[in-house]
Amino acid sequence: MTDEVVRRRVGFRRSWDWPLFATAALVAFNVVWLAVGLAVPWGHPVVGWLPLPVTALLAGYACWQVTRQSALDAGTRRFWRQLRGACGLFIAGTIANTVDAVGSRVPSQRVGPVTLTLYLLMVGVVMWALLRLPSWQRSRSDWIRFGLDACMVLITVAAIVWHFSLRDHQQWVTQTGSAWAMLSLAVVGFLSMASFVKVAFAGAGRLDRRSLHILAVGSAISAAFGSLSPFLVSRPYLSSSLIAVPVAALSIHLAAVRQLRAGASMPAPRRRSRRVSTIPYLSVAATDGLLLATGSVDPTETAIMEVAAVTLTFLVIVRQIIALRDNHQLLATVDAQLADLRRYQEQLEYQATHDSLTTAGNRALLEQHVEQLLADGQPFHLVLLDVDDFKTVNDRLGHGVGDALLTLLSTRLTTIVGDLGMVARLGGDEFAAALRTDATSVEVLVDDILAAIREPADLGPHTLKTATSIGIATSWVGDTPKELLRRADVAMYTAKAAGGDRRHWFDPAMDRAADENARLSADLRNALPTGQIFALYQPIVDLATGETIGGEVLMRWRHPDRGLVPPDVFIPLAEQNGCITELGYWVLQQSCQQAADWQRRYRDRAPSKISVNVSARQLADRHFVDNVETILRETDVDASQLVLEVTETAVLTTDLAAEQLGRLKQLGPRIALDDFGTGHSSLSLLLTCPVDVLKVDKSFVSGAAADGAGAIITKNLAGFITDFGIEAVAEGVETTAQADRLRQAGYRLAQGFLYGRPMPAADFEELFTRVGAHTST
Ligand code: C2E
Ligand code: CA
Ligand code: CA
Repeated sequence: MTDEVVRRRVGFRRSWDWPLFATAALVAFNVVWLAVGLAVPWGHPVVGWLPLPVTALLAGYACWQVTRQSALDAGTRRFWRQLRGACGLFIAGTIANTVDAVGSRVPSQRVGPVTLTLYLLMVGVVMWALLRLPSWQRSRSDWIRFGLDACMVLITVAAIVWHFSLRDHQQWVTQTGSAWAMLSLAVVGFLSMASFVKVAFAGAGRLDRRSLHILAVGSAISAAFGSLSPFLVSRPYLSSSLIAVPVAALSIHLAAVRQLRAGASMPAPRRRSRRVSTIPYLSVAATDGLLLATGSVDPTETAIMEVAAVTLTFLVIVRQIIALRDNHQLLATVDAQLADLRRYQEQLEYQATHDSLTTAGNRALLEQHVEQLLADGQPFHLVLLDVDDFKTVNDRLGHGVGDALLTLLSTRLTTIVGDLGMVARLGGDEFAAALRTDATSVEVLVDDILAAIREPADLGPHTLKTATSIGIATSWVGDTPKELLRRADVAMYTAKAAGGDRRHWFDPAMDRAADENARLSADLRNALPTGQIFALYQPIVDLATGETIGGEVLMRWRHPDRGLVPPDVFIPLAEQNGCITELGYWVLQQSCQQAADWQRRYRDRAPSKISVNVSARQLADRHFVDNVETILRETDVDASQLVLEVTETAVLTTDLAAEQLGRLKQLGPRIALDDFGTGHSSLSLLLTCPVDVLKVDKSFVSGAAADGAGAIITKNLAGFITDFGIEAVAEGVETTAQADRLRQAGYRLAQGFLYGRPMPAADFEELFTRVGAHTST
């Protein structure tokens, strides 16, 4: 309860207790007056009439107070305004009634036409006010049922009123001077019943429920007192109005007080009460009871009661039929809603367990399914697929093409797997399938999948060649979906590391390898501070003279337990754990220092170029160029003699690459494209990047492809490159035959075991200072 409400209530009590008290006192006075009058003939009839207009006035005053409450809603305020108007008519009616009774010399129970009209108007206004109160929202059949209930209540009440009061109408007529008074009373009674029934069944807007009850009870008591008239025939100085009017006024007064106390608080939501549904039966029972009570004493009475009983029974039947039909409809609606709910639930479940792009199952569904298979105890296989180079498709052709490709691959996959298992998309370009076949069948199936995915994907303007790496793991006793997926994942990575477009079974050795890598990676962090890292120099020679004109710096790691760890192993680890930035900085610093030292000491005889490898991660580092600048300044090396080797892949996968290389060149070093021919081999790179040197990969020179395709490629490359003004270095020269072929093809520079393996700085120094040296080893 808010403070404001409390204040209002307290204030209200203080200013309102006296009029209510006065009304109550006047009602009590008239009750006593009537009682005494019944016992002893009475000489001063006018005194008993005086309280009537006073109580009506006080009731009107109370209503006026309510209409001043601005917090009330418009509908309720209107009701109390109309009730206030009714009180005006009430006051006038009581005055006219008094004049009728005591205006002539002899006291009379006559009710004159003016009185009757005023009272009728007053009741009419109250009824109108009640009927105008807003109703609850109801359906058509609710209204029909309400109409039937109202009719039943009215018929029952009419029968009761008839039985106990109106059947003595003859007496009324003589008593009040005409049949009008009785008829109007009947009409008023009927109308007020109808209004209250309406309000009780259909609601009264935000009008205070308690006020309404007070009004209903008050008017019922007042009506009951009114119908006492026949008992007063022998006492013309008394009238039923003497008590009926003050009671009516008191009830209006109390109702207004109650509304004031409740303020604007919303009435509690109406519960469908049990009584409402028992009304038809109570009505029938009451009327049947009356029928039995009247028996055969009075044929008119019996006929009236019979008609009432039959009508009621008919109405009850109609109501019952309607109720049955409604229940039927309700059941149908509930059924339909349940069906909707079920459909909605299914949709939700589908969305929660399926991938929206490919409509394959998602990770959650796969895990559920695998859980079920594990619970069943039958061994099965989990296959994990990862599309090779999918990132390139997405980056180069856009996500639209990427999505279309994934959808197509998903369709191929589900078609091949069919009902041999369940396919799911785990996210990105990763798919998985749980297969309930034996190991041999799994291999056949997986090979089919590899072949199907290798088929060119025709996506509108683009035709893409794709491949996947697949890992296979077999379920073990006590497995969990996560562990099984992990093993398939390890196997898949092995397949990917081996070049992709292949399958690999999970092997516990893979786990050991992964563990070892993790240990090695940890050791690598300590390698530089503890002096385990050192640099070797491999000569680069002039093919024509065999003279060492430069060298490539190659990093080495001497592990305290494992001995020499090859760079093919530790460089990728350093790239992964980030050590490469530090290692790269160190190598560059060492090389520059060494080169500067040789330049100072040997001048013209010093190697004219020292090549240092730069990893992708270094190239992507924003501080890389600044770091190089610092090193160049600190070591005071002739920057034009420094060559920085970057791989094609590093350039292609680094957003900053072109910009960084441009800035690097401004500092003086030259740029070499390493391992040319193994990556994307995109000659267009030579146009967009400031490349000075091309290092043709050893696979074309001494590898498996060296004699056939390799020979043709190296030959064509040489011509092409010189046209661009780029210098070529052939890597991996191992035999004199290879050296001869390269020379004939037009190569000027070479590097390889034929001329020298990577060696310590001191050995390298000895090599280039040996004038006219041709070959070593
Ligand atoms: P790379 O840059 O292509 O280096 C040349 C590799 O070819 C060296 O392997 C070298 O020993 C080897 N090689 C030279 N001549 C022959 C030959 O006649 N036949 C054969 N079969 N091989 C020959 P290495 O030293 O094991 O280095 C492997 C790779 O590790 C390097 O390939 C390079 O990518 C990386 N690497 C080495 N040192 C560094 C470094 O300081 N920084 C970075 N970022 N990467 C490095
Ligand atoms: Ca290199
Ligand atoms: Ca190379």
